[in-house]
Amino acid sequence: MTAHTTRVDVGIVGGGPAGLMTALLLKRRGISAAVIETRTKDTIHHTQRAGILEAATVSMLVDAEVGSRVLTEGHEHEGTVLSFDGEQHRIDFQALVGRSVWLYPQNEVFFDLANAWEREGGEIHWAVTDTQVHGIETTSPRISFTDAHAQARSIEADLIIGTDGSRSMCRRLIPEEVRTDHFISYPFAWFGILCEAPPTAPELIYANSELGFALISQRNETVQRMYFQCDPDTDPDSWSEDAIFDHIQQVLGTEGGVQLKRGPIIDKTVLPFRSYVCDPLSHGRLALAGDAGHTVPPTGAKGLNLAFADVRVLIPCVEEFITELRADAPGHEGEAAETPESLRRYSRTALDRVWKAQNFSYWATNLLHRQPDENPFTHRRRRGEFDAITGSVHGQAYFADSYTGWSD
Ligand SMILES: Cc1cc2nc3c(=O)[nH]c(=O)nc-3n(C[C@H](O)[C@H](O)[C@H](O)COP(=O)(O)OP(=O)(O)OC[C@H]3O[C@@H](n4cnc5c(N)ncnc54)[C@H](O)[C@@H]3O)c2cc1C
Repeated sequence: MTAHTTRVDVGIVGGGPAGLMTALLLKRRGISAAVIETRTKDTIHHTQRAGILEAATVSMLVDAEVGSRVLTEGHEHEGTVLSFDGEQHRIDFQALVGRSVWLYPQNEVFFDLANAWEREGGEIHWAVTDTQVHGIETTSPRISFTDAHAQARSIEADLIIGTDGSRSMCRRLIPEEVRTDHFISYPFAWFGILCEAPPTAPELIYANSELGFALISQRNETVQRMYFQCDPDTDPDSWSEDAIFDHIQQVLGTEGGVQLKRGPIIDKTVLPFRSYVCDPLSHGRLALAGDAGHTVPPTGAKGLNLAFADVRVLIPCVEEFITELRADAPGHEGEAAETPESLRRYSRTALDRVWKAQNFSYWATNLLHRQPDENPFTHRRRRGEFDAITGSVHGQAYFADSYTGWSD
């Protein structure tokens, strides 16, 4: 069958938040893009992921003109609570660093971006199969795939952007002799639930006790998100509703303090922890952004925000590259292509922030989780570290500055 071919400036593999935000912002700068995505729009819209947005992420959504739901339906959080053995300390983000975060679920961020892209007539193919990327070391890279109607298709472009998530096939196109994969895994996971109940507290609570970690998060007025530390091999169905709530309540402390608001559990998942960085984030005519280039454990709420931070750095670099290309005499199809300096700069600049976020996510994970070799010394030492953070304005400011996303 002959492949149906379209031609754009930039072909994007992966229609998650990073891919769609990239497509929209490129369009605002007169650069055409087409997006392909393996899942359906409905599946992604109903998949629970991140919930905390840094102020810079919110600004990008507002500036990209995707609609104002993030401001009208999202909730500004001016602080968060750290709890250790039932003792609670509030970190006041606004007082410490003058920034807030917003609670607005990632699936709604995705929905706003996808609707905006479709409303503006942007090319997107949902539910594709057989994705392949060709010729990233040449002047004419190309994506081939089969669309949802079994039609073979091809997208020709000057640049391919891989925003295809943590199992990225795009990053494996960067040759092994050029690419360094930095990777660690953790000996624990998060057991996440969604339950039909009102919020337990006005802000998020990150808790540690001898039982390990728990997070009391939120979704909206009637549905809440909570997590607790578990073994990576845990079967979600092996925990009853009562056992889950009793365990989280114990981590929070049972005497006085916060009492969990309980309700029917409508979703249970186990989320393994990994830290990964691909270096570099660009090679030839390919650039990676978001989880395709790096993943962090979710403790610092950095994954989605880091994906958007990549896009902030990437867009002007792509614009520079496309502008130079348009000014040059057209080259020959399929000629060997070096990595443009603008895309090398993207990789260097984005990775600086990625490593800051890796460090914060790793540090917060180790501060708040129980290790398999935990003993009275390690627990008491952790208490000392916790006191050093909560007991000093400088310690609190470190947490607040990192959690709310530094200033660019
Ligand atoms: C349970 C959970 C909780 C989290 N909590 C937080 C949080 O509180 N705060 C935070 O900031 N982050 C959090 N994260 C991380 C955050 O969800 C990710 O960092 C974010 O989704 C990254 O966006 P992305 O667009 O890079 O990748 P993704 O959202 O993964 O999008 C990639 C897309 O590419 C598509 N794709 C993959 N392969 C192909 C292919 N071959 N062809 C076409 N399409 C393809 C996928 O279907 C996917 O839709 C959490 C993650 C999980 C799983």
